[in-house]
Amino acid sequence: MGYKFNTTNFNEFLRELKKEYRIFAPKVFKGMGTFSDTDAIRYGEIDTVDEIEFKEKSNFSYKEVLLPITQTLFYFTEENLSESKGEEKGAVIILRSCDMHSVKRLDEIYLRNGFEDTYYKKLREKAKFIVIGCKESFSNCFCVSMGTNKTSDFNGYLDVDGDKVYFEAKDNIFEEYLKEIPKEEAYFTKDFVEKNEVKVNISPNISLKVMDSNMWKEYSERCIACGRCNFVCPTCTCFTMQDIFYKDNKNLGERRRVWASCQVDRYTDMAGGHSFRKDKGQRMRFKVLHKVHDFNKRFGYHMCVGCGRCDDICPEYISFSNCVNKLSIAVDEVVNSEK
Ligand code: SF4
Ligand code: SF4
Repeated sequence: MGYKFNTTNFNEFLRELKKEYRIFAPKVFKGMGTFSDTDAIRYGEIDTVDEIEFKEKSNFSYKEVLLPITQTLFYFTEENLSESKGEEKGAVIILRSCDMHSVKRLDEIYLRNGFEDTYYKKLREKAKFIVIGCKESFSNCFCVSMGTNKTSDFNGYLDVDGDKVYFEAKDNIFEEYLKEIPKEEAYFTKDFVEKNEVKVNISPNISLKVMDSNMWKEYSERCIACGRCNFVCPTCTCFTMQDIFYKDNKNLGERRRVWASCQVDRYTDMAGGHSFRKDKGQRMRFKVLHKVHDFNKRFGYHMCVGCGRCDDICPEYISFSNCVNKLSIAVDEVVNSEK
């Protein structure tokens, strides 16, 4: 059971919430799309419910709220270090089911992979999640194949129908903000898709022998190493470090971590001029096997949540889902060759 509001009253609830939280949701950024006269849908802070884009898939995920694209970790002088205070307010993040599932993947990497990352932890502990449904599958989504089309792991669920707003709060963190807001009790169904046009079949028999398959050669020719697939992915977590030295005193500065991409040149560069994956097919192989093999071996489920954003964004029309299906065929070939 939840509540029904009119838009004005729900916006009053958001106003109350904003006293302690920043609220992030997918928004339309006019004229900011890849091509001229197209819009971008990405995450930004909102004040009112009508700013939320409910109908289209966002090009980028919520990831930058918990893992900022560039984040100052500490400031340094010749003698001292001081840790960045970071954001004081918590974040309320409005997101779809697949992205909700991706939060668990980020937690595995930043909190349960042998150490706790304090910078991530600070933002994560103060984050609350409100899920919005999908009335139908978007193009390139394969969440059903990945089991991420439904979720009950959220703090709230939100829907709109004309000038009516439906909201279910799952725990009492929102209750005090809702107390004084006029509303009616209401029952409503949650929209989770049951099928996608795109399906993937992940072979249970993947072994590292498939690294030698010819299938990767296609990507050596097609991929241009732009890294866009990594940046839109809600489960890509790699970063690199940058030390910034201030112009007025070169002994002072700050250390930042910034997003990195395993598809771009220099990602694997090492001291002495070594580089492990110069070939773009090798990089694709690394990314795909990480998403549907290595992570699963470590944590017991797949990293990819099937949002399809990497397919949406690739300028070379390289499809991750097609690649995973080709991988299954290549795995069968390996298995058959060993019989
Ligand atoms: S690999 Fe592609 S489909 Fe999978 S979670 Fe990342 S962006 Fe989404
Ligand atoms: S978006 Fe496409 S072209 Fe760019 S790095 Fe990813 S796979 Fe390669």
